[in-house]
Amino acid sequence: MLGVPRMSLAPADEGFEIAFSGRSNAGKSSAINAITSQKSLARTSKTPGRTQQLMFFQIDPQRRFVDLPGYGYAKVPRTVQKQWQNAMEQYFQKRQSLCGIFLVMDIRHPLTEFDQKMMHWCKHCDIPLHIALTKADKLKYGAGKSALIQVSQTLKQTHPEATVQLFSALKKTGIDEAHAILDNWLGIE
Ligand code: GDP
Repeated sequence: MLGVPRMSLAPADEGFEIAFSGRSNAGKSSAINAITSQKSLARTSKTPGRTQQLMFFQIDPQRRFVDLPGYGYAKVPRTVQKQWQNAMEQYFQKRQSLCGIFLVMDIRHPLTEFDQKMMHWCKHCDIPLHIALTKADKLKYGAGKSALIQVSQTLKQTHPEATVQLFSALKKTGIDEAHAILDNWLGIE
């Protein structure tokens, strides 16, 4: 695992890289840990000083995940937001090895302004997008399904190639579905 404060210090831009993104507290660290079957590979976002770093997890010499910084509920100063935005734009536009964005949303608050920005960059830079609606255990089955349908319908209009699934790190549901997407992006049979 490697944490870097700037993209210029990232591992060489080769092979396959998948970026995990999500608004702070959406459940991104828990999702990464559930998907990689680790208890604490991705630290929770509350760890001081970690939030603005890019964390790289090497899977094999040619494949890695990166945990992109998000930002929290607290009002973030405009300058910090602008810096984050510039860094993300650069990353999306320049990173040749980037083969997909795994965007984590809290099922109870999907498609936030943060999410819309990430989705916009995926579209603009032609990068495959998959959405995991996590904390699905917080909703009853029917409510979860209808949230899934609503997000799918929005995607159909704006991001027709994107995919979306229900996920719960707590109940460990949706992990196989997530793996199928990730393996496909990473070129694993
Ligand atoms: P991050 O800031 O996006 O990395 O979010 P975390 O993974 O740190 O999760 C934020 C909070 O949501 C923590 O209190 C987690 O325990 C909780 N959480 C994360 N995933 C789930 C889930 O699938 N179900 C439930 N019920 N809680 C979850």
